[in-house]
Amino acid sequence: MAEVLVLVEHVDGAVKKITTELLTAARQLGEPSAVVVGAPGTAAGYADTLKEFGAAKIYAAESDEALTYLVAPKSDILASIAGSASPAAILIAATAEGKEIAGRLAVKLESGLLYDVVGLGADGVATQAIFAGQVIVKSQVTSGTPIYVLKGGAVDAEAAPAAGELVEASVSLSEAATKAKILDRVVESSGSRPELTDANIVVSGGRGVGSADNFKVVEDLADSLGAAVGASRAAVDSGFYPHQFQVGQTGKTVSPQLYVALGISGAIQHRAGMQTSKTIVAVNKDPEAPIFELADFGVVGDLFAVAPQAAEEVRKR
Ligand code: FAD
Repeated sequence: MAEVLVLVEHVDGAVKKITTELLTAARQLGEPSAVVVGAPGTAAGYADTLKEFGAAKIYAAESDEALTYLVAPKSDILASIAGSASPAAILIAATAEGKEIAGRLAVKLESGLLYDVVGLGADGVATQAIFAGQVIVKSQVTSGTPIYVLKGGAVDAEAAPAAGELVEASVSLSEAATKAKILDRVVESSGSRPELTDANIVVSGGRGVGSADNFKVVEDLADSLGAAVGASRAAVDSGFYPHQFQVGQTGKTVSPQLYVALGISGAIQHRAGMQTSKTIVAVNKDPEAPIFELADFGVVGDLFAVAPQAAEEVRKR
């Protein structure tokens, strides 16, 4: 069976949920091979998870040096593995970094590339959610090795144990890949809360929250539920909450079991980042707010009355 390369997204010594979704989607097209780019010893640490979700091979592209450059080494490494493995397809997560890697890789391989994929068929036809998820189209790559960039949460990860044979992958960096170097990394932590894109529950606040101080109300409900905190772009641009928590077209894509929107109107650019959430609850004082078209449960009311009551009720249980 043809190999399908999956670029592993990982952070802080853990494989991100999107990787398990990519491995699941890859099984539609062939036999998944996980590609881990990391410091020496990284791939072995992820082997159990990658095997569990169907990686027949795990390419270990390990080099401290490669990590000191921006994304270009990752597209070099994928291109080199693709050159020898002749995969049926390559799957990459639709993160900011993933999109850049995919674009560079498509140029290197002279291949077609499909962004914002939310479904993948065995025939290679992809379902894409375009224009901030307003239009759904079916597309197919007609040239080269198809590269699919999948949105988080589009596919439910399912375990399918496989061999997970570790294969050392050579890391040779092109001159172009070493033109921009990382001098310092500042990891913005979400503290004791779960990571936004991996969380099962997300509680987000919008402009209706009114101020940075008031975001405590959002955080308090999130903490009662063991949830991550998100924010709309209006909230972030107003300085209520840090940028890395922005959900939406130009922020992060989340797909939790439960998404709670507090004081968020539901603009299409916000929806683009959360509309695949399994259950959506909205609290908004305007009954005409577009978020109610999308919500499974809606409360027309003042978030400062509703959210604290909800948090108190959750804590009692
Ligand atoms: P508003 O639209 O101002 O809504 C605030 C809501 O709060 C209102 O519905 C109001 O009724 C309600 N409210 C007020 N007070 C209370 C209260 N006390 N209790 C309950 N409800 C209350 N937006 C994103 O979120 N993410 C993105 O990634 C993103 N990317 C964008 C990209 C582009 C190219 C563009 C043009 C825009 C983008 N936007 C994005 C912005 C988007 O268009 C909206 O402006 C933004 O989502 C609005 O945020 P909001 O819902 O918090 O604010």
